[in-house]
Amino acid sequence: MMIVVFSGAGLSAESGIPTFRGDGGLWEGYKIEDVATPLGWMQNQKLVLDFYAQGFEKMQKCQPNAAHFAIAELANHFDVVCITQNIDTLLEKAGVKDVWHIHGRIDYQKCEWHFDIPPMYSEWQCNYKSPINKPVEWGDLCPKCGKHLRPDVVWFGEAVDMRVDDLYKIQNQVDVFIVVGTSAQVYPAANLLKFFQDVPTKYFIDPDPNYELLDGFTVLEGKATKYLPALIESLKEELA
Ligand code: NAD
Ligand code: ZN
Repeated sequence: MMIVVFSGAGLSAESGIPTFRGDGGLWEGYKIEDVATPLGWMQNQKLVLDFYAQGFEKMQKCQPNAAHFAIAELANHFDVVCITQNIDTLLEKAGVKDVWHIHGRIDYQKCEWHFDIPPMYSEWQCNYKSPINKPVEWGDLCPKCGKHLRPDVVWFGEAVDMRVDDLYKIQNQVDVFIVVGTSAQVYPAANLLKFFQDVPTKYFIDPDPNYELLDGFTVLEGKATKYLPALIESLKEELA
């Protein structure tokens, strides 16, 4: 029995981490192009680092909610592949061991010349990446090559490592596909809805679902903590 859980910012909203499009959020006072694009980084590294330093402090303080714990519980019982667009580590805090962070994670740093999908010329690549317990500061340099360090998050316009080889290995083995808390508007991540379209049982949990994308899904229109724990309990009973 294999289950894929694909999550977005809505999963962590009830833990106090605002969603991308929500009001009063992480982005308040900042323009996305200034703090979440390669051009923004080139123009003002200090501003970008200040923004992520705030995100780091905030996310470190947040705690997993009932939906994160429900996913951890599911992973204890079944073969679960947990794919998230979130850069927070609340799934790990809830006890999920192997999370695919396709947009990176806030508790890692990398060299500004590290690319998850390597560039054409290998001399343009430095593979330095490491866990951190304090945010990257302006002036922190890569111990390997001396270029600047940056947060290990994927910015708009950067390549996303979708782990395509791993995805193809599981595509035809997946029995249940659960999507939670995503607007499914950020690509290529949102392609997963199409990639897993033939999975026999599919659920979509979100208070504001985009029905146009949800052919074949059972839609649970509401918050993650309202529906996910109950869904997972019923799956445990049904599939045990
Ligand atoms: P999004 O902001 O585009 O969409 C969030 C979705 O969550 C919306 O559809 C909304 O209706 C839904 N939602 C709001 N509250 C919810 C709740 N309580 N329960 C369930 N769903 C709820 O987010 P996205 O689709 O993940 O894409 C945004 C991008 O921004 C991603 O790339 C992500 O990496 C990044 N981001 C990450 C975090 C985080 O790490 N927690 C937070 C904000 C943005
Ligand atoms: Zn380097």
